[in-house]
Amino acid sequence: MTASAPITQDVLTMPRKLPEGGKTNLVGLTRDGLRDALLAIGTPEKQAKMRVNQIWQWIYQWGVRDFDSMTNLAKGYRAQLDENFVIEIPEVVSKQVSLDGTRKYLVRIAGGHEVEVVYIPETDRGTLCVSSQVGCTLTCSFCHTGTQKLVRNLTAGEIVGQIMMARDDLGEWPKPGEPAGERPRLLSNIVLMGMGEPLYNFDNVRDAMKIAMDGEGISLSRRRITLSTSGVVPEIAKTAEEIGCLLAVSFHATTDEVRDKLVPINKKWNIKELLEALRAYPKLSNSERITFEYVMLKDVNDTDADARRLVKLIQGIPAKINLIPFNEWPGSPYQRSDWERIESFADIIYKAGYASPIRTPRGEDIMAACGQLKSATERARKSRAQIEAETKAG
Ligand code: SAH
Ligand code: SF4
Repeated sequence: MTASAPITQDVLTMPRKLPEGGKTNLVGLTRDGLRDALLAIGTPEKQAKMRVNQIWQWIYQWGVRDFDSMTNLAKGYRAQLDENFVIEIPEVVSKQVSLDGTRKYLVRIAGGHEVEVVYIPETDRGTLCVSSQVGCTLTCSFCHTGTQKLVRNLTAGEIVGQIMMARDDLGEWPKPGEPAGERPRLLSNIVLMGMGEPLYNFDNVRDAMKIAMDGEGISLSRRRITLSTSGVVPEIAKTAEEIGCLLAVSFHATTDEVRDKLVPINKKWNIKELLEALRAYPKLSNSERITFEYVMLKDVNDTDADARRLVKLIQGIPAKINLIPFNEWPGSPYQRSDWERIESFADIIYKAGYASPIRTPRGEDIMAACGQLKSATERARKSRAQIEAETKAG
């Protein structure tokens, strides 16, 4: 945490209406799902495909939320849509803006649950860090979200809705008459690195990312979407085949003994099994390289020997290694490695021929950095003592 006071801008919005009387929310429906919904209200079969395209474009390319604005549809049909459907996205409860421009949103989803979404502006891009679950079933010992029990999976609509919410806040929907794709995108990249393990919510994450990648949807290239997993091995090949986005893996250790403690899913699928799945990924997904995320924890996983082991392990895998200085959170049982240690580690990796960027912590003053996310309404259910005991017991 930095000492300086953050510029915070809390915007408490009035609670919005929930979908009325069983109306179906169209946000997050797949093309087939939307088609079925339109057929069910009597849309002629012959027109269904065209109507899907039109409605899809209004929602995802123009950011329209009411049917009456869909001017290329007949008035009567618009009324019919309005009787049966809604276009709903998660509600913003608060927004904080960091000194470095990072924006952290707390959004409320059905059931009153809350998740965090982070927008990180950079010179050549703007990345949205999206959540896939409320909480997480996994209990990585360095991760704040891991102290929060899984409440539920997000729906596809709630996942794609986070992107739409951010585009609302950035004011980047095209203006009427302005051709779509004219301006550089403020929200140009998506990382599934918020709360939750995306591969434990596979179907909804896939459906949401399909909308994000669709040329008539949010229209981001699959190379601008990175899914981060802690290592759910059986789902990795499926990710390549059914999503095809870039993959990042929370590697964090070079021996099973240490990884078992840091990323407990390692006890189920160990380093060897994980590496086999990763080796196959670039070919299956036709993507260039895998990002290995490695959190730098003082005296835990940060020696030169670790760096050399890491290089050896990933030999033959097209890779980039992202070193993440540990971000502390209240009660966290670790410390960030010293800067010289991180540099020495990075140097070994770089000399072995891999890009080894050190991720600059962003939005630390508002607890928006990697691994700091945790919804405020779901306060720590584990005490510091508990976390420390679990870490030691491993
Ligand atoms: N569940 C997924 C994605 C969310 S975590 C996964 O584990 O990959 C996103 C990244 O932040 C992961 O690499 C995670 O290991 C890292 N992370 C978690 N807690 C952190 C912390 N306190 N400091 C730095 N990085 C952290
Ligand atoms: Fe879950 Fe990822 Fe945090 Fe592990 S690092 S507890 S998998 S969110």
